Amino acid sequence: MSVLSKPYFHDDAAAFEHLESVLWSNGPVCPHCGSVSGKHYDLRKTRVGLRKCSDCRKQFTVKVGTVFESAHIPLNKMLQAIYLMSASKKGVSAHQVHRTLEITYKSAWFLCHRIREAMRDGSLAPMGGAGSIVEVDETFIGRKEGVEKAKAGYGHKNAVLSLVERGGSVRSFHVDSVRKDDVLPIVRANIVREARVMTDEAVQYAKLGDDFAQHDAVDHGRGEYGYTERKTGVKINTNTVEGYYSIFKRGMKGVYQHCAEKHLHRYVAEFDFRYNSRSALGVEDQERASKALAGIHGKRLTYRGTDSRA
Ligand SMILES: [Zn+2]
Repeated sequence: MSVLSKPYFHDDAAAFEHLESVLWSNGPVCPHCGSVSGKHYDLRKTRVGLRKCSDCRKQFTVKVGTVFESAHIPLNKMLQAIYLMSASKKGVSAHQVHRTLEITYKSAWFLCHRIREAMRDGSLAPMGGAGSIVEVDETFIGRKEGVEKAKAGYGHKNAVLSLVERGGSVRSFHVDSVRKDDVLPIVRANIVREARVMTDEAVQYAKLGDDFAQHDAVDHGRGEYGYTERKTGVKINTNTVEGYYSIFKRGMKGVYQHCAEKHLHRYVAEFDFRYNSRSALGVEDQERASKALAGIHGKRLTYRGTDSRA
C-alpha cells in the first residue's frame, strides 16, 4: 500500500465520496439555493455523485460551483493531479501531468490552472502582528510581452513582490514594476503597522519607517548580508524571502520554463500555497492536497480564447 493506492485516486465513486468529505463535512449543500436541509435526495444509483435538492428540486453534485465543474476529466484523475502538484516542492509541468494521467496536453494544461486557482488564497487581513518580522523583496521572472529587446536593468522582465513573515506565511504579487507607486500601496495594505519590516536598501523602501513599528534595510550593494542586532539578538536580513525565491525560481525555470505574463499570478499563487502549508509548519503532503481541494469551491475560471501556452 502507498498513498497512491487510495481508492479515490482510482475509482470515480470513491473520488466523489472523498471530495464530499472535504467540501461537505456537514452533509450535502445545494449549490443552487444553498439549502443544507439534510433531506436532499440521494440519486447516486442513477449517476455518480448525483443528488437532488429537497427544497429547490434541482440536481447537483459536489463538483457544481467549483473549478472542477466544467472539466471533462474523471474526478479521480483530477485528485491525482492535485496531489502531484501539492506534493512537489517545485511544481509539476503540464507535460508531466499529461503523461502521468494519460490525458491530452491541453486538458492537463487547463487542469493545472484550475488547481492553481484552487490554491489561490484570497485572504485580505494584513500579515503579522506586534513583534513579528515581515521581510519584503522583489524578484524578476520571464520577459514582458511585447518587449523585443532586453532593456537596461529589469524593465523588460516581469516583477514579483513578496512579503514573508518569519516563521509564518508568504504573500506574493505580480506587479507592473518595482517602482514606489506599484510596490508601496501593497506593502502598506498587507502588513500590520505594528510589524517590523526588513528590506534591502532599494530606494522605493526608503520611507517605510513612517508606516511600520520599525524598518531595517540591509545594504546588499555593499556586500552586506545582514547582521545581528546586539541588544535584541534579532537577525537583520532578508534571508527568508530570498530562500522563498530560490524555490520559486528553481520551479519557474526548471519545471515551468515558459510562463505567459497573464498567467504569472497563478504560478505565484501555487508557490505561495505550498510555502504556506509547508512541512516545517506541520503540514504534510496529504493534508496539503486536502487544503488545495478545499480551495476548489467558490472559484470560477474563465479563459479568453484557447491559448494554452504555459
Ligand atoms: Zn436547492
